[in-house]
Amino acid sequence: MKALVLKEPSRFVYEDVPLPEFGDTDVLIEVRACGICGSDVHGMDGSTGRRQPPVIMGHEASGVIAEVGSQITGWKQGDRVTFDSTIYCGECWYCRRGEINLCDRRRVLGVSCDDYRQHGAFADYVAVPARILYALPDEVSYEEASMVEPLSVAVHAVEMTLVRLNDVAVVMGAGMIGLLIVQVLRIAGCGVIVTVDIDSRKLELAQKLGADAGLNPSECNVPGEVKKLTNDRGADLAFEVVGITETVKAAAESLRKGGCLTLVGNLSPSIDFPLQWVVTRQIQVKGSCASCGEYPVCLDLIAQRRVNVQPLISAIAPLEEGSLWFERLYKKEQDLMKVILKPQEKA
Ligand SMILES: [Zn+2]
Ligand SMILES: [Zn+2]
Repeated sequence: MKALVLKEPSRFVYEDVPLPEFGDTDVLIEVRACGICGSDVHGMDGSTGRRQPPVIMGHEASGVIAEVGSQITGWKQGDRVTFDSTIYCGECWYCRRGEINLCDRRRVLGVSCDDYRQHGAFADYVAVPARILYALPDEVSYEEASMVEPLSVAVHAVEMTLVRLNDVAVVMGAGMIGLLIVQVLRIAGCGVIVTVDIDSRKLELAQKLGADAGLNPSECNVPGEVKKLTNDRGADLAFEVVGITETVKAAAESLRKGGCLTLVGNLSPSIDFPLQWVVTRQIQVKGSCASCGEYPVCLDLIAQRRVNVQPLISAIAPLEEGSLWFERLYKKEQDLMKVILKPQEKA
């Protein structure tokens, strides 16, 4: 089969590789679409240590079942599916509590780090355990299904947060996840949703997708503006989707006393944290990691057109052009949000 292989830092080759091996409880999937994630672009130069070459990246994918392992019941050749980006073991202490995103033996597809190498879906085929599969509703295209993974991250972050009817929420960062959080917060019943980003075009898009206001920190004082919108009180909720000192600080300082700060972004591994502000105002701080079984909800939200992923898809391109698209994303070309790669369809 063909695959887009990261051969050495920042160098991809589209080449022939062996079909992935699959066991009795696995399925072999013919990949139809796979999105390039920010973490793939961030990791391709070797800086994160989580894309150690050689590796086939890709964890935001969908496709058709080509073959099933001998122990599999309930799935068959030809089924349209997507799958969790994380292979959880299903047996450890966390898995048995249902906290599959915290699995002790978790492996993320398309990641290769010191502990493991798990080839992903920038290939004609990928093999995954059947327990991580989800069937696609007829209304959801393969391209839309490859957006379920980022959407599940947004849904999980909102579900981690106690959202009350008519809450005021600040979303720090209007990239892919931020724009999805905005849409999910609307469904969850928020009253006013404020987005914050240094890119005004992203703020405009956020407002098209349901945000009420957009603040650009290079033009205004964000906590001050949020106060103006909330009778001088501050927002009930803040979602931080960037992960640097400035944005975490602005998110915390935009909250009212007793508000909730949900941390999703982690661009910097550690930051300067406004400890006293958080403690003395009794702010709740939560980290949100990946997702935990939210895929069916996400597929329904897309099928019912309650979340609109289309405006976030910038390009759909053949897998063999992958190298070029990774380079464009790495250079942070303007106006590029999600790029989806498609392997050549078999006859
Ligand atoms: Zn991702
Ligand atoms: Zn586990």
